[in-house]
Amino acid sequence: MSQEARNDPFNDSFYEGVIYRPPSEASSLILQVTVGCRHNQCTFCSMYKGKSFRVKSDEEIRRLIGMGQAQYPWAERIFLADGDALTLDTELLLSILRQLYREFPRLQRVGIYGGPKDILAKSPQELNALKRQGLGIVYLGVESGSPVVLEQVKKGVTPQEMVLAGQRIVAAGLKLSCTVILGLGGKELSREHAFGTANILSAIDPHYLGALTLMPEPDAPLYRRVKGGEFKQLTAWETLHELYEMIEPLEVTDCIFRSNHASNYLPLKARLPQEKGQLLRTLTQIVGQAQSHLLRPEEWRGL
Ligand code: SF4
Repeated sequence: MSQEARNDPFNDSFYEGVIYRPPSEASSLILQVTVGCRHNQCTFCSMYKGKSFRVKSDEEIRRLIGMGQAQYPWAERIFLADGDALTLDTELLLSILRQLYREFPRLQRVGIYGGPKDILAKSPQELNALKRQGLGIVYLGVESGSPVVLEQVKKGVTPQEMVLAGQRIVAAGLKLSCTVILGLGGKELSREHAFGTANILSAIDPHYLGALTLMPEPDAPLYRRVKGGEFKQLTAWETLHELYEMIEPLEVTDCIFRSNHASNYLPLKARLPQEKGQLLRTLTQIVGQAQSHLLRPEEWRGL
């Protein structure tokens, strides 16, 4: 899942715990309509380990919208948090969207994290209705396309289910932003992770694709496997090689790729497929010539 902590004085009195949102929602008003993540089992993720999942009450959501309106009446973008707010009942989501477009006259887009299981729990008709009511973009943490990696990290879905979930969002006319995690298979499963991920991304054909690099934090179950030596993490060069192997076979129609998240060793951006050749040449050159001065130092990486 694409992630970035956000904290400001307004948010501190407004939110429960640390808030995460996609980097591209940096200037959005964040409304926390759910707390935590219903799944909350992924072994690489520590974002919501300290929170018990709950849906905020109608009254809390009404107050939240009122406070947001008072502080940011001209908000053009709103992001609904926490981890998988798409898990909300469709009628409730539709009513939230109606309120938002009524209360924020300049609102242009509402974004949300959608877990694959929550997407699959909604029918195509429900997703169409959400699109018509102004839901603009769904952020889906694909993480990997390898069945073995998905199972190891307890994502809770198969690659086939992930493809179906992604395709369902695209078919509803919603923008889809997918995130993958470089290094998630470790040294042992790097090739399988790269090719499997390229395969399912090609089948999903998202509008946006973001790459993060694995950084298990102490609260994440995977951290213990790393410390215990069972899971061997990739080096910076191996990570970039894995990215090359993922991008090379990727077949998408029109997709903005970015690796600008703070966890990555190298920030890259390309429109695919048009700029794929250039992106691969850049990777080959930097890795081939070991241009380490271009890489983000380990101590500067973050989540
Ligand atoms: S679905 Fe997994 S990665 Fe996403 S927030 Fe929940 S536990 Fe974290």
